[in-house]
Amino acid sequence: MFVTSDPLEAYAWAAQQSKTYRVALVPTMGALHDGHLSLVRRARELAEVVAVTIFVNPTQFAPHEDLARYPRPLEQDIEMVRSAGAAMVFHPSDHAIYPPGFSTYVNPPAVASRWEGVIRPDHFRGVCTVVLKLFQIIPAQVAVFGRKDYQQSMVIRAMARDFNLPIQIEVADTIREPDGLAMSSRNRYLTPDQRLQALSLSRALRMTRQQALSGVKSVTKLERVLTDELAAGSDLGVDSIDYAAVVDAHTLEPFSDAILQPNAVALVAARVGTTRLIDNLSLTPDFATSMNDS
Ligand code: AMP
Repeated sequence: MFVTSDPLEAYAWAAQQSKTYRVALVPTMGALHDGHLSLVRRARELAEVVAVTIFVNPTQFAPHEDLARYPRPLEQDIEMVRSAGAAMVFHPSDHAIYPPGFSTYVNPPAVASRWEGVIRPDHFRGVCTVVLKLFQIIPAQVAVFGRKDYQQSMVIRAMARDFNLPIQIEVADTIREPDGLAMSSRNRYLTPDQRLQALSLSRALRMTRQQALSGVKSVTKLERVLTDELAAGSDLGVDSIDYAAVVDAHTLEPFSDAILQPNAVALVAARVGTTRLIDNLSLTPDFATSMNDS
C-alpha cells in the first residue's frame, strides 16, 4: 500500500493508476471504524484501486468545536485501511491543504442551508472546499460517502452536479452497532452511561419509521414521536436536541402542509454530555434498509 502526505505524490500516483484502473476515493477524518471500512469495501466493488484520505479538516470545525480533541490514531488507521484492501492512503498536514495565503472557498449549495447548516454555519463551506481539493489531488472515477452524514452526502452530490465534476458520487448505507447506535468516531467520547443515552437516537428514528410505515401522515405527529423518544423521559434520553425533523429526502425542505410524502427522511442531531451525535433514517419502505424494524 502506498502511503503519502504529499499532494503532488498523491496526484502522480492517481494519475498513473487511472491509466490502467478505475480509481475510487474514500475521504475520511480518520479514527476509523467499521463504518469507514464498509465504504472501502463498497469502493472496492466499484473500482480496481481504492485511495483513502485521512485528514481532520480544520475549516469544517467552528472555534468552539472538538477539532483539538478529535482522535488521531494515524498508525492504527493506516493498518485498518491496509487490511481493508485499499491501495493508497493520503494523510496530508494542515499546511499542505491550507498553505499560507489560502483564501479560496466553495460557496455550498442550497441543500446545505438548513439543519447542520444552521447549527454549524461554516461547516459545509469547509466540507465542500476540502472535498473539492481532495478530488483535485486524487482524480478518481468514483467517491464513496456514508449515508450516516445524510445532508453531507446530498451537499457533495449537489456540488458535483453544479461544478460538473467528472466523478460519480456513491452513498453507502449506515453501519450500526448491534444495538442500533450508528458508528461514529465521536462515539469514543461517550462514557458507558452516555452510550445508553445515545441509543435514543436510533430508537427514536426506528419508532418514527414504524409510525410512518403504519400510515401516520402528519409530519407534526411524526416529529413529536421523534422528539419524545429522543428525550425519553430524560433518564435515558439525550441532554439536548439540535434538530429532529421529517423532511423531503431530496431537498431536505419541510413538506408543504406538513403532510408526509414519498421519499421522506428523518434527521436528528442531539447532544449527550459534550458530544454531538447525528443520525437519520429513511421513512420510505424500499429505502429503509439500514435498520431493522424489529
Ligand atoms: P468522517 O471520518 O466522520 O468524516 O467520515 C468519513 C466518511 O465515513 C463519511 O462519508 C461518513 O459519512 C462515513 N461514515 C461515518 N460513519 C459511518 C457509518 N456508521 N456508516 C457508514 N458510513 C459512515
